[in-house]
Amino acid sequence: MLPDVAEKAAINLEIEGGLLHFVKGHGPYKQRLKSLKLVEDNMCHVCWMVSTPEHVVLRCVETEALVSKQRALLGDRPVTEVLRAPELVTLLRESEDKVSAYYKRFLAVRGHPAARDNKIEDYE
Ligand SMILES: [Zn+2]
Repeated sequence: MLPDVAEKAAINLEIEGGLLHFVKGHGPYKQRLKSLKLVEDNMCHVCWMVSTPEHVVLRCVETEALVSKQRALLGDRPVTEVLRAPELVTLLRESEDKVSAYYKRFLAVRGHPAARDNKIEDYE
């Protein structure tokens, strides 16, 4: 999902922390966890789509209640468009923060190996 060089120049925004993980396809999302062999599959078991950061943060039914306000304001804009507008980046950052915190708690409560021994950050 990381935009190419020309795209990044056009965007010209500071992307850091959780939002950088989101743009790079990292973070506590099943697509990433599967690539690290930390989960069996990469599917969202609610929507039956690949559980990418974009799916989980912006489109998934399971996380709708967490970020309904932000999603209503972001609409169906593609991420590349969102990243060009600072006010939309703020909404995306808020959404990513809430959803990644939710998933980290979800993994920790289940005693997932990624959440033990402070390894929660390893897959970011
Ligand atoms: Zn989903």
